[in-house]
Amino acid sequence: MRIDILSLFPAMFDGPFGDSIIRRAVENGILDINITNPRDFAEGKHQQVDDTPFGGGSGMVMKPEPVFKAVRHVKENTDFVNRRVLLMSPEGCVFNQAKARELAQYDQLIFICGHYEGFDARISENLADEIISIGDYVLTGGELPAMIITDAVARMLPGVLGSEESAPTDSFYNGLLEHPQYTRPREFEGLTVPDILLSGDHAKIAKWRREKSLEITLKNRPDLLQTAELSEADQKYIELLKQSLETNN
Ligand code: SAM
Repeated sequence: MRIDILSLFPAMFDGPFGDSIIRRAVENGILDINITNPRDFAEGKHQQVDDTPFGGGSGMVMKPEPVFKAVRHVKENTDFVNRRVLLMSPEGCVFNQAKARELAQYDQLIFICGHYEGFDARISENLADEIISIGDYVLTGGELPAMIITDAVARMLPGVLGSEESAPTDSFYNGLLEHPQYTRPREFEGLTVPDILLSGDHAKIAKWRREKSLEITLKNRPDLLQTAELSEADQKYIELLKQSLETNN
């Protein structure tokens, strides 16, 4: 997959993309990450990329010309058909695991990172295929959102995760939060690992994990249970959990 990121602050990406799993994916040729600075497409002596808003108000707005030119440059210099232009904005639909899996199907993702007060609306209305937010809060720029989305999408690409990491058991992958995990030692400062995990009985372990996953999801994110795929046994277990919660309250 090719990732193109349009950012006024390219150096911000050095750390997050220069280490660990993303770096390995780049070295293995699974990901090709390119950063383009819209300022390189801005005109005039000062290469101005922002200006004051029409109608008044505080802050600066990113001008359309450098961003349009930068996106066109990226498109003209790459020949992917299956590509998507993503604009980072708190006004977009909120990113989630399902969106990460969907975006992982594209051959090229082009991220547009805003700064200052945001974008001239002609950018969001005419240049972006999709507007994405990473949550209901406002950051100083679109760089962190672009990193987060790239990271989550990259994990979905075949070959990116090694055998020591796994996506299908992660939270959200099957619509639920992940069950608790333990590793050695069996006992740490008097805190022990649940016996069932040491039993070697894989069917019982799978059942325990599923139930824990349902428990944690009911406790922390009950909204996810509305859309998760639940078996009859899952539903019965959730009913039991709810009844025991009611009794304890
Ligand atoms: N004035 C804008 C508003 O109220 O919606 C906020 C602009 S914000 C300070 C500057 C840039 O940071 C945005 O253009 C966007 O690219 C990025 N940004 C901030 N919060 C974000 C979020 N939650 N999700 C995605 N991008 C975000």
